Amino acid sequence: MSKPAVILPGATLGVMGGGQLGRMFVHAAQAMGYNTAVLDPDVNSPAGLVSHDHVQTSYLDEAGLKALAAQCAAITTEFENVPAQALDALAQTRPVAPAGASVAICQDRAREKAHFVACGVPCAPHALIETPEQLAAVSDDLLPGILKTARMGYDGKGQIRVKTRAELVAAWDELQRVGCVLEKMLPLAYEVSVLVARGRDGQVVHFPLQQNLHRDGILAVTTVPAPSVSAEVSAQAYESAHQIASSMGYVGVLCVEFFVQQDGRIVANEMAPRPHNSGHHTIDACDVSQFELQVRAMTGLPLVEPQLHSPCHMLNLLGDLWFPAGSATQQEPDWASVLALPGTHLHLYGKTEARKGRKMGHLTVTAPTAALARDIALKAAAVLGIDPF
Ligand code: ATP
Ligand code: MG
Repeated sequence: MSKPAVILPGATLGVMGGGQLGRMFVHAAQAMGYNTAVLDPDVNSPAGLVSHDHVQTSYLDEAGLKALAAQCAAITTEFENVPAQALDALAQTRPVAPAGASVAICQDRAREKAHFVACGVPCAPHALIETPEQLAAVSDDLLPGILKTARMGYDGKGQIRVKTRAELVAAWDELQRVGCVLEKMLPLAYEVSVLVARGRDGQVVHFPLQQNLHRDGILAVTTVPAPSVSAEVSAQAYESAHQIASSMGYVGVLCVEFFVQQDGRIVANEMAPRPHNSGHHTIDACDVSQFELQVRAMTGLPLVEPQLHSPCHMLNLLGDLWFPAGSATQQEPDWASVLALPGTHLHLYGKTEARKGRKMGHLTVTAPTAALARDIALKAAAVLGIDPF
């Protein structure tokens, strides 16, 4: 087969899903001179609001998929739970990156873990629970553990921590007895993630490792360079992420999350077939962003090894911040005081209704040194009512 042609600026790029990741993808594509089309059912979707075109249908709507394919030279996804068959349908007439087959692996924790194991990448001891027999056969070694739905989980949703067998049985009932994975609770020292981009020609590049602090199962703070990480841990994480992407024949940006245990051993937690919340700092702190690399990978433009030009902290801005000190009515946070601090970059996603736990935006703080970035990020956090880290 002849090599597919590079898709040049001026063409239209499509994205399945209209959330904030799609919005930042659209911004990057437009900055490079591409037109964009977003498919998302929500009339007010963050990406739909800024895209040239917005196909407003469900992900499996045949007419919607046709309308998207008709105008796009290539299509990507920003939403991990887009049905893989929608991507497969688009792929019949257009290049789609990542492919439905890769996304399908990432959508299912059991398949995802099997892929890690097949790549020789360690993950947490776990068991698949789809039947009462499998539930009864679970080894005591996996307790205390976390029961996670195999599909559709995010931001700690669809997860229940269990200490005993009785709690495990009750938790599976609570999760409606859907297919689950029980994972052993590991003693974590800290969490990191790696973003890689793989091109159509198999070239793989990666961003410097991120260190991530989660609160209530939701990413709260990302720090780069990762302060706790040894050269050995980062080399292992890069090598694992490269292997995980290459062995799927993956095209596009992929994020792999890792746990580093108290004894220093590293295990893969999960992966996302798209740019990731832990990579938002790349817009302001790197010479090429994760969203630009997604554009380059899907169009066949060259990938370059991204460089971090500024130490940084990224703070997630959750809807909770719009309700200070238990206030019942929604109030806009004090952006002017935050932006008075040097090196602050505010990103809001155009969501009008703030809800607890809803990702409304993020703030990246860049500075000449890591210590200064942290100092300013802590000041911004204090203004916004984010707990210190
Ligand atoms: P995401 O929004 O990243 O997709 P998720 O809902 O899929 O999140 P996980 O990444 O599986 O959830 O878990 C959320 C957080 O819970 C992890 O970042 C980690 O802090 C904690 N956690 C998950 N699994 C374990 C484990 N086996 N041992 C210890 N802590 C864990
Ligand atoms: Mg996670």
